[in-house]
Amino acid sequence: MIYDLHTHSNASDGILSPEELVSRAKSRGVTHLALTDHDTTEGLHRAGIIADQEGICLISGIEFSTQWQGINIHIVGLNVNVEGEQLCAAIAKQGKIRGERAHEIGRRLAHEGIKDAYDGARSFAQGSIIGRPHFARFLVDKGHVPSMSVAFKRYLGAGKAGDVKHSWPDIGQAVADIRSAGGVAVIAHPNRYNLTRTKLRRLVADFKDAGGEAIEVVSGQQSSNDTAAMQNIAAQFDLHASCGSDFHMPDQPWQELGAFGALPAQCNPVWQLWQEAG
Ligand code: AMP
Ligand code: MN
Ligand code: MN
Ligand code: MN
Repeated sequence: MIYDLHTHSNASDGILSPEELVSRAKSRGVTHLALTDHDTTEGLHRAGIIADQEGICLISGIEFSTQWQGINIHIVGLNVNVEGEQLCAAIAKQGKIRGERAHEIGRRLAHEGIKDAYDGARSFAQGSIIGRPHFARFLVDKGHVPSMSVAFKRYLGAGKAGDVKHSWPDIGQAVADIRSAGGVAVIAHPNRYNLTRTKLRRLVADFKDAGGEAIEVVSGQQSSNDTAAMQNIAAQFDLHASCGSDFHMPDQPWQELGAFGALPAQCNPVWQLWQEAG
């Protein structure tokens, strides 16, 4: 069995449609797939239809943008009831924040001499929620930068003009919203925040206090040192372990569907939480 519990479709900033994502996961041997688009559950209905046809188990997920001590932290929700009232209200609020933020990013890029970025990003989003990758694609398309990673380095990454983050809810809010819909809250890609071990432990402690239950011990292709360190933290805080690719698009081997190391045997896999619940 291969569980990939962190993936994106074009309902947020992924490239593949929900149908293409599910088919690709199936063809790569994934047996249990969570679609966890940023701040939306829009793609899940379509993903569910094709998952039934293809015979792959789809887990309803979401990846919430939050902030903690001024840092942009992502909290994944797994096995959520997409009709949960509080969850739907939270998603509506995130959508509003994203809309306002996109306008602000557009204004800030205009100050940098880049015109029409908001409209450009919106057309790349094609009606889905807007994220920084849509701005990155616009910047590449218009020749302002050679690649998306340079777009982040120059314009969109931490501390750059397009880094507008102070409106996200705190992690406690996201955990509560996920739990209100019967879901399990998971700290996404803990290695990617460049936190010291001490600060990461503080984040995990706050998350646990808020009712968080799991952490991604394996996120995409990472070193065995990182896996061991995250497994230690999971054990120390009595958290369940999740694993996922964070797949966004084909041709990025480091985040291909299902392509990551196994969870260490000592871990309590996160799926126990919903399998036990029946
Ligand atoms: P947002 O959700 O609007 O805050 O945008 C964050 C998303 O941008 C992440 O989920 C990634 O998909 C993408 N991203 C972040 N950093 C980079 C980078 N350096 N290069 C390419 N994409 C990135
Ligand atoms: Mn993304
Ligand atoms: Mn993320
Ligand atoms: Mn993600």
